[in-house]
Amino acid sequence: MMTTVAFIGLGNMGGPMAANLAKAGFQVRAFDLSDQALETAKSHGCDVAASAKDAATDADFIISMLPAGKHVRGLYVDGDTPLFDVIKQSALVIDCSTIDADTARSVAAAGAEKGIGFVDAPVSGGVGGAQAGTLTFIVGGSEAQFEQAKPVLDVMGKNIFHAGDHGAGQVAKVCNNMLLSILMAGTCEAINMGVKNGLDPAVLSEIMKQSSGGNWALNVYNPYPGVMENAPASKGYQGGFQVDLMIKDLGLAMDVSQQSASPVPMGSAARSLFTLHKAGGNGNLDFSSLLTFYQDKNSA
Ligand code: NAD
Repeated sequence: MMTTVAFIGLGNMGGPMAANLAKAGFQVRAFDLSDQALETAKSHGCDVAASAKDAATDADFIISMLPAGKHVRGLYVDGDTPLFDVIKQSALVIDCSTIDADTARSVAAAGAEKGIGFVDAPVSGGVGGAQAGTLTFIVGGSEAQFEQAKPVLDVMGKNIFHAGDHGAGQVAKVCNNMLLSILMAGTCEAINMGVKNGLDPAVLSEIMKQSSGGNWALNVYNPYPGVMENAPASKGYQGGFQVDLMIKDLGLAMDVSQQSASPVPMGSAARSLFTLHKAGGNGNLDFSSLLTFYQDKNSA
């Protein structure tokens, strides 16, 4: 029998993820609050459901890709129609949203009380990775739940990691994004200093890439316009990963730091830098636009 997947939240990420599942032959019942998102899902081979409840009833897997923890909790536990009241017991809930680890753990516990499995499975790889089916999934849950989720995640991703128990996926995700924000901020300030001292940004980038300063931002996401043709920096900082979303993830990282008394001086500096950059009206630009924060404002 065909495996049925309810997919709730068809935004920038969820839309293409659901489309890849439909393309791979899963029966996808899609639901979003936005009619436009539903239309797009339909054109990619998904069935459109009238409500989240209709999508989830009798589904084998329920995947959610929503903005934040309150949306996930509202959907499954304490909204008007909590999905944990209708999901069948053999089904598995896979929440791919980036949310706080506490909410992920408490929603998993609420599911377990009703005999329903839940994993947190936040992703890395952005909209491009969602479209290409090459996302990285970072899963928190039991070994059995991880094995149950894997065949579905394999369709949408390339690297599927089991980080640990419930919530561990979210903790690993914010550790990674905090490190990314630090690498990007450091790369921006190094390139800006070199350029101010007469260096060609492409030459400097190549030198650092092959030297001990090499890192992901230099390798695939150079923040200086024109150095890397396909990077958001060369497209007016459009597309990619928004400053607003990076700030959201850094807020989650600060929560984890506070709750566990883990010192994160570099992460909190990066959070302040991105917040100052947002205050300059740049919240919806790609996060590599932080480079412009360092540049002289009157030299253009
Ligand atoms: P988005 O805002 O484009 O999509 C969210 C969708 O959820 C919207 O279509 C919205 O209508 C829908 N929605 C909200 N509440 C709903 C509800 N109760 N029922 C049904 N639909 C509902 O966001 P996105 O960029 O797709 O990101 C989703 C999640 O993935 C976020 O947690 C984000 O942090 C994370 N993420 C995003 C990226 C990225 O590059 N965009 C990368 C990695 C992780």
